[in-house]
Amino acid sequence: MVMRAISSPLPSAPLTLEDVPTPHAAGPFDVVVKVAAAGVCRTDLHLLTGELPHPIPLVLGHENAGWVHEVGSEVTRVAVGDAVICYPFVSDGLSAPERSGLDTCAPTRLTPGISVDGGYAEYLLTNERSMLPVPPDADLAALAVLTDAGLAAYRACKRAASKLRPGDTAVIIGAGGLGHLAVQIVRALSPARIIAVDTNPAARELAVACGADLAVDPEALRQALPAGAHVVLDFVGVDATAAGGIAALDFGGTYIAVGVGGAVTLPLTELVEGEKHIEGVYVGTYTDLLEVTALALAGRVTPHVVRYPLEAANDALHDLAAGRVLGRAVLTPAASAHPSTTTSNEADHHV
Ligand SMILES: [Zn+2]
Repeated sequence: MVMRAISSPLPSAPLTLEDVPTPHAAGPFDVVVKVAAAGVCRTDLHLLTGELPHPIPLVLGHENAGWVHEVGSEVTRVAVGDAVICYPFVSDGLSAPERSGLDTCAPTRLTPGISVDGGYAEYLLTNERSMLPVPPDADLAALAVLTDAGLAAYRACKRAASKLRPGDTAVIIGAGGLGHLAVQIVRALSPARIIAVDTNPAARELAVACGADLAVDPEALRQALPAGAHVVLDFVGVDATAAGGIAALDFGGTYIAVGVGGAVTLPLTELVEGEKHIEGVYVGTYTDLLEVTALALAGRVTPHVVRYPLEAANDALHDLAAGRVLGRAVLTPAASAHPSTTTSNEADHHV
């Protein structure tokens, strides 16, 4: 599914179904993955409407899982047929930031689905460093969403959990693709009381099903939180959620921004007299991905995924834009069965 133009507002068919050449593992550390599932992210909407710079034409899809299809001459850590999820940045690991785990800051990194072709396709070119092998019987559609939504949620929640003690309250703003995972991760990592905030009643129901003690509309947050929150995790990131999130902090509390789009403005008196902390979290490290995957494989974090056939990518994008996706949408190519099997899993596809 190829993006050939930038257009705002989102056109009815922003992507077109095309035959493109299958990528080849030409470099020694290249890996070609047969895509089992690609998550649909709000960033894809920002790419389509031109809010983020990128090349055109482009195959979107930066949240990918599948099976190794072809490896470069020097690849030793994965073999053809292995089930894998894909760390979202592709780099060689040699820069100073990468040596401390921060591939997010690697100066020469590529991001399939954003800077080069990604996983809204049957095959994806990535590299050995980005491979995270998973058990052969794992649900790759569920695990795919860990590589971006789960990764950023985990990094934010891990930081939050280091600050949360029994009796504290954590507020999670936005119970969508990231937020519904964050509820489960905070539950797994900390003893805090969890309040989820979302304008959508169905998302609030999902948050409670995921382990939130309470889920409220933004209007009702103050009433639900008389003593303030020790940590607020903002997965929406608009002006109103930043202002409301920072206002909801108790003395010494921390506001952690993950979603983007808005701005933080507050009187310094509020920052100083409340000894408030404001932090940002950007995606996550490979180690973060290992840890959140371990939680998922142990059954402590279960992504709620809505599956669409690859060729229905435009429906998934429009459903996401309209707030109709509960949890995370994933695209699955029609022939996305394990290479060693002969039957298609098309019967599993449903919208
Ligand atoms: Zn994303």
